[in-house]
Amino acid sequence: MSAPATSSVAYIRVAVERGMDRYPDGLTYRADDALGEVGPGARVEVPLGRGDRPVAGVVVAHGGKELLDRGLDARRVKAALRVDRSQPPLPLGLVQLAQWISSYYCAPIGVTLASITPAAVRKGVGSVTRLLVSLVPSPPGGKLHPKRRAILDALVSASPDGSPIDIDSLREASGLATRAPILALLRSGHLEGSHRSEVHARWTRTQLDDAPPPTLTAEQSEAVESIGATIGAGFSQHLLFGVTGSGKTEVYLRLAERVLARGKSVLVLVPEIALTPQTWGRIASRLRSHPIAVLHSGLTQAQRHEQWIAAGQMRAGVVLGARSAIFAPVPDGQLGLVVVDEEHDHSYKQDQAPRYHGRDVAIRRAQMSGCPIVLGSATPSLESWWNATSRGVSRLHRLTHRPPGMRTPRVEVVDFRVESRLRRDRRVHLIGPTLEHALRGALDGGGQAIVLLNRRGYANWIACADSSCGWMMRCDHCEAGMVVHEGTPLTQMMRTTRCHHCQAMQVVPRKCPRCSKGIAIFGLGTQRVEEELGRLFPELVREGAMARVDSDTMGTGADFHRTLGAFGRGEIRLLLGTQMLAKGLDFPNVRVVGVISADTALNLPDFRASERTFQLVSQVSGRCGRGESPGRAIVQTFQPDAAPILAAAAQDYEGFATQEMTVRLRHGLPPATRLARVVFRDERRDIAEALATKAAVALRLLPGHAESAVHDPAPCPIARIADRSRIQVEIHSPTAADLQRLITAARNAGILVPGESVAVDVDPVALL
Ligand code: ADP
Ligand code: ZN
Ligand code: ZN
Repeated sequence: MSAPATSSVAYIRVAVERGMDRYPDGLTYRADDALGEVGPGARVEVPLGRGDRPVAGVVVAHGGKELLDRGLDARRVKAALRVDRSQPPLPLGLVQLAQWISSYYCAPIGVTLASITPAAVRKGVGSVTRLLVSLVPSPPGGKLHPKRRAILDALVSASPDGSPIDIDSLREASGLATRAPILALLRSGHLEGSHRSEVHARWTRTQLDDAPPPTLTAEQSEAVESIGATIGAGFSQHLLFGVTGSGKTEVYLRLAERVLARGKSVLVLVPEIALTPQTWGRIASRLRSHPIAVLHSGLTQAQRHEQWIAAGQMRAGVVLGARSAIFAPVPDGQLGLVVVDEEHDHSYKQDQAPRYHGRDVAIRRAQMSGCPIVLGSATPSLESWWNATSRGVSRLHRLTHRPPGMRTPRVEVVDFRVESRLRRDRRVHLIGPTLEHALRGALDGGGQAIVLLNRRGYANWIACADSSCGWMMRCDHCEAGMVVHEGTPLTQMMRTTRCHHCQAMQVVPRKCPRCSKGIAIFGLGTQRVEEELGRLFPELVREGAMARVDSDTMGTGADFHRTLGAFGRGEIRLLLGTQMLAKGLDFPNVRVVGVISADTALNLPDFRASERTFQLVSQVSGRCGRGESPGRAIVQTFQPDAAPILAAAAQDYEGFATQEMTVRLRHGLPPATRLARVVFRDERRDIAEALATKAAVALRLLPGHAESAVHDPAPCPIARIADRSRIQVEIHSPTAADLQRLITAARNAGILVPGESVAVDVDPVALL
């Protein structure tokens, strides 16, 4: 390897697909002429480590000698090996977004960039390479056989402008049985060939709906006009606070139409796969004359690849998808609007590195693209509410009513302590008389119903029947209880339990291992509710008109799509499930919604427990009363006086938000402050503790620590998961900028090196 002689030599910074965090800006390589053109966003292969093993990476910067800072010796900089030209480079905007994520969320840049590009795209799943042929400018002299001549003539008539055409199209156009004569022309130099890779995968589209667009309500018009006025006028942030069923989607659609008419594209995020089929159907129906790409986990690998490519070629189109769709490679300068529907939803937060929040990344992307962003919710996150009402960084638009013809559901809180006394038999019931009666009324009257319980499995409490013994079944690998799951095909005969944190399984013992008395199984789970509903409504079970929706029954997005389809057609009349059902579903015939226990989220050791409970109860209640008949939501709870439950029943978001903000301000909790949580993990608890203590001490010595409070290390609420002890250090700062300054300083000083044993979570949403 000889040293480059001239100063014009180019260098590139490359983020390799590794968890390394030594160089958050990437590694420097020489870009020799032989490499060809290479700029930010290009995928390259570079030698890494002593053995110069070739690894893949993405170019994050391109330049001259200025990339040789950090005391790099030009003679020792290695040359990049090759550029992967099978895919177009990532748009510059995405590379910059990745750099921001890497720095804000304290995640290695290589991991961040790798997670931006779906695996299917990186591996080229589903691509086929086609051979294209075209005429050469100056063909070799000499006489050509008339049959060969005819092929060249066919090519000229098939492609008068001389652009390359597919070899098989030419074969057909020339009436040939095989490609052989064309290949011969390629060899003799009369034709030239080129390869192009394409992805073929059909994404089945939902039935398109031909319903004419509704006349907007006054509130909808006002929102469309005031947000619409900011289209084309740079970045602006909007919160569309609209009660459930108030027609937020209609507002997004009208805004999208305006953006598309200007030749720009729209990015719409919805939580998880759950909402996609319906929202997709509505958007696809209305905007059908524009290209639409869909990106979510329910697609096959090849479909994802195809949709990603479609997004990359997007002009005046719509990209719709779950969290990671925020990384759709919409060309630079093309983005005219970003929408985040159900912005409060926690599934927007990714729970592994990079631990980004899809909503906040969306805000950043809109800011970088200079376009408006609309966050929509009936139960805005307190973060977004605070931004719109107190910090003045976002504008508030309200939809306070449902459109004419739809009524707001009536929410009734029932005290389960009283309800369970009304039952005469000695059985334990999960469904009280009030809910049973309401369900029966709705179903007998030809309506549909939704029942929610926020916990999977059968029961979550397995203990010695003798309370004085105190034995309780726990996971061997985690500090957590086990959950009974019925009917695993492997173990039909035995009751098995699963740990929801590490997936370990155990068999329920017949006798207490400590005192040999019997075993008692208590607690709630969707399987147990299903069993009870089956007893109450045997006819539904017989007709196959009842379905359970949780991650145990819905293996893929396609399963969910199918079940919702059957619910929409009325074949399924009673839908039971976890919070998947609380998200945005819009079915006019749902007359009753039941919440089995509003308490499941309320008792979590997390400062957002109240907020979550309020959101869950309000959202699921909002699924009913969307048609002619009024809706009724029955909320069972052991804590009927709990503030979030009362507020949800009164449908008083603002009252709840004001009260909850007072608590957050008083205790210095987000969104009044900014929080980062660092979890230190090790098989040995003392090692995890030592790591945490060392980091906490070092953090407190950093310049810039003064504004922030570094809390003492403490065990996480779940102190062990999968055999690793977990010790956390919380950092509280008055502003995001203060927090960033401290984290960046800690990272540069090697105090926080994200990886196997250190997980940094900036703006965490779950604190277990
Ligand atoms: P949200 O997302 O706010 O919960 P949706 O967008 O799902 O509400 O709208 C609820 C229902 O109201 C949908 O079926 C939608 O087609 C209908 N809808 C929306 N706007 C109007 C309107 N202006 N007039 C009549 N129906 C409307
Ligand atoms: Zn476990
Ligand atoms: Zn016992």
